[in-house]
Amino acid sequence: MASTTFLTMPSGKTIPQLGLGTWLSPPGIVQHAIEVAVKHGYRYIDCAFFYDNEGAIGEGLQNVFKKGLVKREDLFIVSKLWNSFHEPEDVKPALLDTLKLLQLDYLDLYLMHSPMGIKNVKGDLLPQKDGKVVMSDVDYLDTWKGMEKMVDEGLTRSIGVANFNTHQLERLLTHSRIKPDVLQAERHVYQTQSKLVPFVKEKGLVFIGYSPLTSPQTPFKPGPKNGMEDPVVKEIAKKHGKTPAQILLRFNIQSGIVTIPKSQTPEHIIENTKIFDFSLTDEEMKKLASLHYGARAVPWDLLGLGHHKHYPFCKDE
Ligand code: NDP
Repeated sequence: MASTTFLTMPSGKTIPQLGLGTWLSPPGIVQHAIEVAVKHGYRYIDCAFFYDNEGAIGEGLQNVFKKGLVKREDLFIVSKLWNSFHEPEDVKPALLDTLKLLQLDYLDLYLMHSPMGIKNVKGDLLPQKDGKVVMSDVDYLDTWKGMEKMVDEGLTRSIGVANFNTHQLERLLTHSRIKPDVLQAERHVYQTQSKLVPFVKEKGLVFIGYSPLTSPQTPFKPGPKNGMEDPVVKEIAKKHGKTPAQILLRFNIQSGIVTIPKSQTPEHIIENTKIFDFSLTDEEMKKLASLHYGARAVPWDLLGLGHHKHYPFCKDE
């Protein structure tokens, strides 16, 4: 049984449908998580400068290369441009910092972490004034021009966006020279993105769903309910002889999107690969989708960005 399937992006390149999330995977532990994941068939590693662990992930990657488990070209490495680096001239130094930490020459995919710029203050990714994050009003279309250059220079193979809404994505598609290959946003049974997922697919992009297990470790309170404890999910799991986590991941795989569960626990990392040997029925898919109640594991307004002019999450988004 395949350890992952692949989707094709608008650029014609492929992306593995299962990836390893790394938010809150601590340095010292994430290195081993990378090795276990690669040994068990993961090819996509989802990183971000903001997660403050890219140096440790770089060590983990060097380790799997040195052990001959995979070659660089076998992996699909993703990172994200943090909001502080939205001025077009800040994009290249930010990407070079990430590449240095990851010990790589190029990324497979570089995402704009969100459409919302933050003031670039050295050493402070969330600068505050009077208890509020200091924003910048750089237009994400200008930031995108900086990202397009990174493709021209061969520092990343593809570019995409995260946490954009349908209007922002439409505007970007209309005004970009290089089209985004993907949109990454929160997606799980309690946040099904019933408007955004079809919109992204209709435009031909790949949708990457984050927090697929409802992010039980999210530091933002109250987070979503823990989907792995949901009676509906548990009942479906029992029927298939699978775990609730595997049902939540299969829900995303069968929705035709990429899923990137985070795990630093070897047993979980392995368990999360065993999602390609069974199918949910249409009725089960509908039952899972009906659990939606609009929850968010990453409420960007709690980061102080709710009043940003490019805040993406309006009521209907
Ligand atoms: P997830 O929904 O992936 O949940 C991760 C949690 O589930 C961890 O506590 C993990 O614990 C636990 N877990 C994993 N597998 C199992 C299992 N089989 N059984 C029981 N528990 C399990 O949350 P994230 O919010 O981390 O989302 C995934 C990834 O998406 C992130 O790591 C990041 O890469 C990306 N992301 C992107 C964002 C963006 O703005 N673009 C925002 C948020 C996330 P353990 O480690 O012990 O297994």
